[in-house]
Amino acid sequence: MKSDIQQRADKVITSTYSRFPVVLTQGTGCELYDETGKKYIDFLAGIAVCNLGHAHPRIREAIRKQSDRLFHVSNLFYTIPQVELAEKLVQQSFADRVFFCNSGAEANEAAIKLARKYFQDKGETRRFRIISMKQSFHGRTMGTLSATGQDKIRAGFEPVLDGFHFVPFNDVSALEKAITPDICAVMLEPVQGEGGVRCPGENYLQQVRKICDEAGILLIFDEIQTGIGRTGKLFAYEHFNVTPDIMSLAKALGNGLPIGAMLATEEAAKAFSPGAHASTFGGTPVITAAALEVLKVIEEEKLVEACRKTGIYFKEALLRLKEKHSVIQDVRGMGLLLGMELSVPGRPIVDRCLENGFIINCIQDKVLRFVPPLIITKEQIDLLMECIDNIFDNMQ
Ligand SMILES: *Cc1c(COP(=O)(O)O)cnc(C)c1O
Repeated sequence: MKSDIQQRADKVITSTYSRFPVVLTQGTGCELYDETGKKYIDFLAGIAVCNLGHAHPRIREAIRKQSDRLFHVSNLFYTIPQVELAEKLVQQSFADRVFFCNSGAEANEAAIKLARKYFQDKGETRRFRIISMKQSFHGRTMGTLSATGQDKIRAGFEPVLDGFHFVPFNDVSALEKAITPDICAVMLEPVQGEGGVRCPGENYLQQVRKICDEAGILLIFDEIQTGIGRTGKLFAYEHFNVTPDIMSLAKALGNGLPIGAMLATEEAAKAFSPGAHASTFGGTPVITAAALEVLKVIEEEKLVEACRKTGIYFKEALLRLKEKHSVIQDVRGMGLLLGMELSVPGRPIVDRCLENGFIINCIQDKVLRFVPPLIITKEQIDLLMECIDNIFDNMQ
């Protein structure tokens, strides 16, 4: 029986999501509660967003304090939290400059526009094409779906934007061959998220950097899912000893408040002059105050290190399940961005987990994805492992 809210939603909300039959009303830490009072342990974190868990006291306080002072004045004025957040991001990354927006797709739009304009400004007007990866995910706007290497996401919206070319992820020679005089940038996720939790091969990202340097083109890392501690470093590129020219962030940056950011080196960022790009809501005071607090909490509570350690524990537990159940084909990922590929559809497993009070999700039909808050405990992981173990036991 669908609850009142579910029935009302089904009448008035566009059906762009196939939702779980659950109305969530409250959360704290890694626990969520639905309207009947049932408790869930959250291994999804709002899709890699709530890295500090739900209702974090310091984030609530940061929002409350700033909302007592100032909500919005437009980017025609300077505001303090925006500058402080940009300084923090610059200090903690390769970047020199930050553009704020409201979502991941918008951060990637800014990256795409910046890469094109960088070469336009140099007079290289025919250098506008971007190479991105098959199985990638960069967003749902017309520009970012055009950059996304999955037919199912582009289907129905053709013609997509001109100027994107796809090569297989982890294939250096395919990338080399695709470099032509009209390419302005290579754009990729250091670890593919939505595409099935796929890690880069050894030295792959270094080789991509080298190819870009030799061709004199820009390297864009989409760290919307991998950023803000998710993989066991603040940014995933830190694992690989490479830096991009441009990086997009969103998801966990606001721990649930909508914020996106495009970070760039001084050299790349110079193509954005007044009037070139803008966002009404980009970097407003309440949201940037919250995001600044997110970064402070991650630093002070050493959550990146915690993620690395818990991630190893979690992955080992998943690998033990793989030993036991032949339905598990592969376990992969870094930090707390983990995937478990099955030989059967994953949705029934997700539904059984939900019944048992665990929130996980499934991507690419057969890959269970685990992206809990970075504060998830070993005990909570053990409980999920027991649940999944039982589900597989009863399947065979
Ligand atoms: C989620 C995601 C996006 C899109 O972000 P939105 O905020 O939904 O627009 C883009 N790239 C990656 C890698 C993502 O995981």
